Amino acid sequence: MSSVAPTRKLSQSACDFIDESFLHGLLDRRAEAAQVRDVIAKSMAKQALSVEETAVLLSADAPELVEEIFEAARQLKRDVYGNRIVLFAPLYVGNECRNDCLYCAFRRSNTEQIRRTLSPAELRSQVEALLRQGHKRCILVFGEDPRYSAQFIADCVREVYAVQLEHGEIRRVNINAAPLDHEGYATVKAAGIGTYQIFQETYHHETYRHVHPGKARKSDYLWRLDGVSRAMEAGCDDVGIGALFGLYDWRFEVLGLVSHALHLQKHYHVGPHTISFPRLRPASGVQLDETYRVGDEAFKRLIAILRLAVPYTGLICTAREPGALRREVMAFGVSQIDAGSRIELGGYTEAGDAQVIEREQFQLGDIRPLDAVMRELIQDGYIPSFCTACYRLGRTGEHFMEFAIPGFIQNMCTPNALSTLMEYLVDYGSQETWETGQRLVRQELDKLPEGPRKKDLQDRLRRIQETDARDLYF
Ligand code: SAM
Ligand code: SF4
Repeated sequence: MSSVAPTRKLSQSACDFIDESFLHGLLDRRAEAAQVRDVIAKSMAKQALSVEETAVLLSADAPELVEEIFEAARQLKRDVYGNRIVLFAPLYVGNECRNDCLYCAFRRSNTEQIRRTLSPAELRSQVEALLRQGHKRCILVFGEDPRYSAQFIADCVREVYAVQLEHGEIRRVNINAAPLDHEGYATVKAAGIGTYQIFQETYHHETYRHVHPGKARKSDYLWRLDGVSRAMEAGCDDVGIGALFGLYDWRFEVLGLVSHALHLQKHYHVGPHTISFPRLRPASGVQLDETYRVGDEAFKRLIAILRLAVPYTGLICTAREPGALRREVMAFGVSQIDAGSRIELGGYTEAGDAQVIEREQFQLGDIRPLDAVMRELIQDGYIPSFCTACYRLGRTGEHFMEFAIPGFIQNMCTPNALSTLMEYLVDYGSQETWETGQRLVRQELDKLPEGPRKKDLQDRLRRIQETDARDLYF
């Protein structure tokens, strides 16, 4: 178990719940095909899986079983999330960092990295650039450094919300930053954050120690593992967890993520809002160790298995992945993607068409503009959504779980997705995207049952097209 500095107050539920020999023992077992099918049937009934059941799916590598898992994930995604995909953009605020994570270009000892923290004016101009693309949601990303205090993060959040440009404003600001203490979370919560994301990177203790050397803050496994629990206790009930795939055995990390989700569910009666599964990418000054490289096939399996294990948790596939692969895995249960992303500090106004690796944390696989990604999603039959209604109406945490049931999608999510899509098409869409999008809106309207909700939605869509009415949500 990790040691914790005495001044650090952990959550009430704090414990190291990752029992490695138990997890390894599960991964050593081979399940019969019938067992695999039983577990698939349980998740098709939208029940969360136990760690043991998840391990059964992980042991299935016969092609026909893998295909059954893929098909079940596709089906479950359609049932729980419909065909919406939520879009957001990352916004890097500062790359100063006291830690020395071996995989990250921001690490302290990397002299190749150009260090920078955006001033309030620079932050505003990045937000304006995102708004001009049509974004409504962003995630602020920070290195771990004393200058990025909870108060600093909260000030940045307020700064972002305050930017207004013609029809646009950012309506939800999420955070990816170092774990805070209870007071810190309360400070950022008061600024109106959406999700607070912390990736454990690896749930495997020895690997964790190896990739987070020295006595840097991040070297404390338990402080990080407990990070989102403290957030929950401080009132941030939308939290995101994740693992950086490629540091250790991907199947172990999946069990780590599911254990973490179940721990939150048990102690706070709500699981994580999202799970992220970034794969290691090339980065400036970083020597990648290929031992645990996750190939595309394993990547698809891990996404499908996560979908089945945690049916109500959003899954985020970032622009680290190339466009073609993102397109493929979308169907396996991804519910959110970033698009039009630039992760150089100041990248939305300064980077041009090529990536500048000395200015970014790692290399992205997909830097297509938002409009191109929107058009592809629409052509593939998805409704790209910028909806932020749940969070703004307080439908978060435990509440949200009550609503994430069939009927809710039809009454709330689809109408909200369509009205935010219409805003995009009218205010920012290229001609081609506008035409494809209008066709999709008509098709989706045809699918909705007749009644007052549909009438109301049709009226809203008309107002968005004909007037300045914006930000209409159910
Ligand atoms: N500094 C904060 C922290 O460590 O929690 C903020 C996170 S960091 C800026 C965002 C995430 O990027 C990390 O948690 C890690 O999972 C991921 N990351 C770091 N290096 C990466 C790489 N080379 N390839 C892909 N993802 C990487
Ligand atoms: Fe710093 Fe986060 Fe990068 Fe680690 S992953 S070096 S903490 S920015």
